[in-house]
Amino acid sequence: MHEVEKYIRSIPDFPEPGIIFRDVTTVMKDPNGLKIAIDSMIDKVKDLDFDVVVGLEARGFALGTPIAYALNKGFVLVRKKGKLPCETISEEYDLEYGTAEIEIHVDAIKPGQRVVITDDLIATGGTVKAAIDLVERLGGVVVGCVFLMELAGLKGREKLEGYRVDSVVAYE
Ligand code: IMP
Repeated sequence: MHEVEKYIRSIPDFPEPGIIFRDVTTVMKDPNGLKIAIDSMIDKVKDLDFDVVVGLEARGFALGTPIAYALNKGFVLVRKKGKLPCETISEEYDLEYGTAEIEIHVDAIKPGQRVVITDDLIATGGTVKAAIDLVERLGGVVVGCVFLMELAGLKGREKLEGYRVDSVVAYE
């Protein structure tokens, strides 16, 4: 068992019956939990050659910014539709629970920039796949995706075939 696991709260039947929600807020509110989580994610990507961390709203912002800061990279926000103030491109995708649309500023990534994408959790992989598509439409090169948690049973990795995917804790 990874040390960070004891800080993750599991909530049965949220947001729907039969779903176990893995809650990162209990990791982040604890100084030791936060440190282990961020350090473990940094360990997964520190040897990659890249320029910028792309974080997915909203928990990907909280985890991704300290990773970018520690590795001296830039940080780019992928947000839910309608939140970014300048010109954007968007992608629609299926969620584990419904559908959604995410956006990125058109000038956020320069062609050829090397990108690591981060979020708290990968489930079906739909969200991160949409983010990869956004980055690639801008000419960015996705060199890896890093998550604190992975719901392995939902086979998100299959959607990301050909991409490097790292997670700290995997649940079946
Ligand atoms: P996916 O698109 O199916 O991979 O779902 C991943 C997205 O949904 C991420 O942005 C996660 O933050 C969120 N998500 C889905 N299930 C959970 C969970 O159990 N805990 C925390 N976030 C989740």
